[in-house]
Amino acid sequence: MEMVLSGADAAPAAAFALEHVSKRYGSVVALDDISLSMAKGSTTALIGSSGSGKSTVLRLLLGLDWPDQGVIKAEGRALERPHVLALRQRVGYVIQEGGLFPHLTALGNLALQPRYLGWSAARIHERAEALAELTHLPPGVLERYPAELSGGQRQRVALMRGLMLNPDALLLDEPLGALDPIVRHELQDQLKLIFDQLGKTVIVVTHDLAEAAWFAERLILLREGKVMQDGRIDDLRDRPADPFVRRFVASQRRLPEPAA
Ligand code: ADP
Ligand code: MG
Repeated sequence: MEMVLSGADAAPAAAFALEHVSKRYGSVVALDDISLSMAKGSTTALIGSSGSGKSTVLRLLLGLDWPDQGVIKAEGRALERPHVLALRQRVGYVIQEGGLFPHLTALGNLALQPRYLGWSAARIHERAEALAELTHLPPGVLERYPAELSGGQRQRVALMRGLMLNPDALLLDEPLGALDPIVRHELQDQLKLIFDQLGKTVIVVTHDLAEAAWFAERLILLREGKVMQDGRIDDLRDRPADPFVRRFVASQRRLPEPAA
């Protein structure tokens, strides 16, 4: 028997898409006619030097800022201002240093959004405990204020906050940028496991190529608001699309070779 697929079945809507998106801040061109699309359940790393437009991409996908030109799509639908509140409940956002409110305990921070949505205290507790287990946060830490947490614990709480509502997608903006190397390495391992385990659409911003390659098969290298290369680490390393890609890859510091 012949199977008939409708167009919609044959091509499921991407979780996110940017179509010919440009964004300026005064005379600065943050994004210059960018088109990208991220499949549902995929993990993508956005890399590039400081100022290349990485954070701007995330902010536009979250409706925290709006393009001057082009269209942002979430699940195939063009993003408009009235959708933004609903979108923020389906997309978790984690930023460097965590962005936790200092006057609230860890649990108080986790509870903000769910309480606004009418969750009971019991349900909030249950979800927080489950996420503490997932992120390896020791018991008791939820009662502390952000200033009483280590950098790694703060980042774990920020990740938990991003996951509280069990969103379909998680956008992380240099989530490990402020951590010392050992804690960073440990959290890289745990985050990767969490991404694989949860199967959500993930976009992670970093300026560290090794970290990007650890998290994601697909790396998108930005420069001055343009996509320089979109591919796997082997593509960037062995088939650089531009001299800048070669320089970016070569600039990653390696340990010196042992003396002969
Ligand atoms: P990245 O995250 O890659 O470091 P951003 O996306 O934050 O880069 O910024 C891209 C460019 O846009 C930078 O030159 C930055 O200074 C500028 N920019 C970003 N946000 C603002 C803003 N709110 N006001 C003015 N300039 C901004
Ligand atoms: Mg940034």
